[in-house]
Amino acid sequence: MIITYSRDRRVVDGVALANRLLKDERFISHIASHYTFDMCDMSPSALIAYIQRHLESNVIEVGTFKPFNPWSRAMAMFNPSEPDDVFISSRKLQRHPVKLDQDASIAGSIWHEIIHLINNKLAMFTIGHGNNNPEGKQWTAPYQIGREAKQFAQREYR
Ligand SMILES: [Zn+2]
Repeated sequence: MIITYSRDRRVVDGVALANRLLKDERFISHIASHYTFDMCDMSPSALIAYIQRHLESNVIEVGTFKPFNPWSRAMAMFNPSEPDDVFISSRKLQRHPVKLDQDASIAGSIWHEIIHLINNKLAMFTIGHGNNNPEGKQWTAPYQIGREAKQFAQREYR
């Protein structure tokens, strides 16, 4: 399960939507149906099955962090020093005026960071996007799964 102790409604609702996707077999099977991800040596079906199993018996906590630089483009982060937590930038919590689009965007960021968290747990595999330049990274697991989480929610939960 994905949890938060934040009392910010935008975080709470984004976490709820990220959990809804986790339990939606249509979303899970869509991710599993991909043939490969760039910069990933684990099959998409094995990766998503591992994420499901991990979250059946473990908790991932979503917190917030405040980038020192007010113009920081960072939306969210994972830090191996806190291996069971992911963080959303408190400077990037307001995403969209429409509630579903707002929640879907936060849920997409959470899913992106969960891929980094899972990569950190799997010593045998590499799943990521290298450096933080998003240029040309759209088919890596963090970017593709994050984007598809957002788009699936926007399409199916409207
Ligand atoms: Zn990333």
